[in-house]
Amino acid sequence: MLFDSHAHYDDEKFDGIRDELLPKMPEYGVKRIVNAGASIKGSYASRELAHKYDFMYFTAGIHPESAFEDMQNPEWLSEIEALCRDEKCVAVGEIGLDYYWSRDHIAEQKECFIAHLELARRLGLPAVIHDREAHGDCLEIVKNYTDVKILFHCYSGSVEMLREILKMGMYISMGGVVTFKNARKTVEAIEALVEFPDGPSRLLLETDCPYLAPVPHRGELNHSGLMVNTAEKIAEITGLTKEEIEAKTFDNAISFYNMK
Ligand SMILES: [Zn+2]
Repeated sequence: MLFDSHAHYDDEKFDGIRDELLPKMPEYGVKRIVNAGASIKGSYASRELAHKYDFMYFTAGIHPESAFEDMQNPEWLSEIEALCRDEKCVAVGEIGLDYYWSRDHIAEQKECFIAHLELARRLGLPAVIHDREAHGDCLEIVKNYTDVKILFHCYSGSVEMLREILKMGMYISMGGVVTFKNARKTVEAIEALVEFPDGPSRLLLETDCPYLAPVPHRGELNHSGLMVNTAEKIAEITGLTKEEIEAKTFDNAISFYNMK
């Protein structure tokens, strides 16, 4: 029983195989998938997928890498808000800051991020955060939104930062990276999470597919069915069984996204 809390099936890498692959998800034990919008266009595509497949839901939002371009559209925020009001939209996202690819347009990234958090607060929706090489600035911003349910997807920060976000009641999700040979930082984060009071209730599983397929599929096209390898690795780190990890992270995702 798997819940993929963050996927990108609208990505062009799935063109031609998308409608062959997705109907097979229940056979892989995948019961729910949240497709993350990463731009205005991607959020519309995510909505379309969510309406095509019963087990799919979506988030609407503008990824920091698309912030500058999408904000040229004067209606960007009202379009995202309309998408967020869709019955299958479960969160605002993915939003945040990314200083890895480029440090241009940091002001626009921040403006876009904050506007989305304000929207999440106004609509009473959770928010899904992308934070790459921008931990300090992200933390500073989310500290003003402790009333919003927040998930740091593909968590890559330090153990210290993890403790801070857990203290604020926030969640993290982990994907294939945890199975990589150089994943020491991620492994340490999971070890710290299980020691934190109520920490195990704040962990979700994700793919971020089509990227970051877990070992032994590293480099291949990732999909939700491969999450078993991620669950196995987390079981190994925590001393729980794979079934316990799958069940716990499933329940956590249902709770985070306010689903039934
Ligand atoms: Zn993503």
